[in-house]
Amino acid sequence: MGIVVLKFGGTSVSTPEKRAMIVRRVAETRENGYQVAVVVSAMGRNGDPYSTDTLKSLVLEEHPGVTPRELDLIMSCGEIISAAVLAATLTNKGIVSRALTGPQAGFLTDGSFSEAEVVDCQPEKVFDSLNRGEVPVITGFQGADSTGEINTLGRGGSDTSAVILGAALKAEMVEIYTDVSGIMTADPVVLKEAKVIEQITYGEVCQLAYEGAKVIHPRAVEVAMRNNITVIVRGHDGSTPGTVITGEAALKDGSFSTRGRRAVTGIAHSVDLAQFLIEFADPDSEREQKVFQRIGEANINIDLISVFPDVKAFTVREEDCAGVEEILRSLDLSYRLEKGCAKVSVVGVGMHSIPGVMARVVQALNQQNVKILQSGDSNITISLLIKKEDLLPAVKVLHSTFNL
Ligand code: ADP
Ligand code: MG
Repeated sequence: MGIVVLKFGGTSVSTPEKRAMIVRRVAETRENGYQVAVVVSAMGRNGDPYSTDTLKSLVLEEHPGVTPRELDLIMSCGEIISAAVLAATLTNKGIVSRALTGPQAGFLTDGSFSEAEVVDCQPEKVFDSLNRGEVPVITGFQGADSTGEINTLGRGGSDTSAVILGAALKAEMVEIYTDVSGIMTADPVVLKEAKVIEQITYGEVCQLAYEGAKVIHPRAVEVAMRNNITVIVRGHDGSTPGTVITGEAALKDGSFSTRGRRAVTGIAHSVDLAQFLIEFADPDSEREQKVFQRIGEANINIDLISVFPDVKAFTVREEDCAGVEEILRSLDLSYRLEKGCAKVSVVGVGMHSIPGVMARVVQALNQQNVKILQSGDSNITISLLIKKEDLLPAVKVLHSTFNL
């Protein structure tokens, strides 16, 4: 009998009605002949009593200096509450279930608090539970290191837990249930015309996620790609098929036929960015090198890097501006800073074989009088830095330009 892992995100476990939907999803999957393991996130969003952010603020407000160890301990509680409640709900509905914490389910972490990596997963207790005919319900977002210390996996970590468990159980697929009907052509919060993408490659989803689409964690997609696991993203009511994420070879015939092939699959965006333009009066490789070195040492991520002999441009998150300014001042460099920026990225595995995509992007944005401050690209992505107020018109016009 094949195994399927079903993962339910924060909004999908938050109310008794939503948990009743989970019972139906589990029952359906079992009726289709699969053994089911469930992975859950903490209930709800910030402000809800047992959400991760609420638990975190509970200790941080009173004790801002709390140790990372204790902070991880409290942050791991939300998933434990979800798992215990959901296991009780399932058992009460006649589907015998067993809640397991990350460590009990065999998630071994690297020992770093708040952003731990899973280095191994030996899910004996999960197999035992499945073999007894039960539905094991496993907490996402957590594991323990080799000394037994609890570590959490960072934002979106439950997606990664689900795919890692899928790989360890040799599951046929992993289904990620969430509050939208699948992976969409743009963030539906920004663009209501966004549509569900039927099929998409691992590479495209990774790129959308890196560029700001938080619908699935990029690390989860990387693990799925390495282990060749099919991942399906669906709405928790189960009424529509959702999005199938696979390798390029598994894409249905036709989606990449030379005629009908699509150049762009989806659009992602991120906000609260700032652009730095540093001017070098004369070539000065030593100071140039120092700038990037010090920014790296300060653990500040830079993006959209353009290097010309007399100007270097890059972006950072707005919250990192002060840190960069301090470094530039200490090196006595003059610079221009543009705050209030956003980045819009078009992603599609088809674009590297279809010429003229950049021309269409530029033309579309010009039409809407959207000023492009900077651009960057990889073989399946073109990113444009624009002002925050231009974000909606930019997403809209790109969405229609590429017939999404
Ligand atoms: P969960 O709690 O189930 O893990 P998340 O909030 O992490 O849910 O992810 C779902 C959210 O991702 C949606 O509510 C949506 O606003 C956002 N999102 C951003 N980009 C996209 C996209 N391209 N497709 C679908 N959802 C997107
Ligand atoms: Mg999520």
